[in-house]
Amino acid sequence: MSKFIAPDKVYKERISTCKACPHLQAGNFCGTPLRGSILEDGTKLCGCAMSVKARLHFAACPLNKWEKVLGKRELAEIEAAIDRKSAKEIWDMYAKFVGIHPNSGTNCPPCVKSAVEELRSLL
Ligand code: SF4
Repeated sequence: MSKFIAPDKVYKERISTCKACPHLQAGNFCGTPLRGSILEDGTKLCGCAMSVKARLHFAACPLNKWEKVLGKRELAEIEAAIDRKSAKEIWDMYAKFVGIHPNSGTNCPPCVKSAVEELRSLL
């Protein structure tokens, strides 16, 4: 199993929260699919496929309805794994799961990149 995957229990709780959220679109996306949306208060919805994003233990809901799962073990795994290739590895995994070309024009690469940068700042 990938070092970036959240436990099943966490995944199910996150998906349950998203299914009850009015911002879930097409049954799977946070805001406009793959593009994201900006709410009236300026909050940016990511446009990610929740079936994938909710599986990533370092991911978080943009409205703080669910948070990252970062215990000592996860931080140690990230610290051991994180390098310049990490964002590309995560993005390639995401594109494969969602079934899109890795070079397609979506909102995902900057979202993944900012998540990796945030993780770097925590280490
Ligand atoms: S990630 Fe948050 S804002 Fe997006 S659909 Fe899920 S609960 Fe709603």
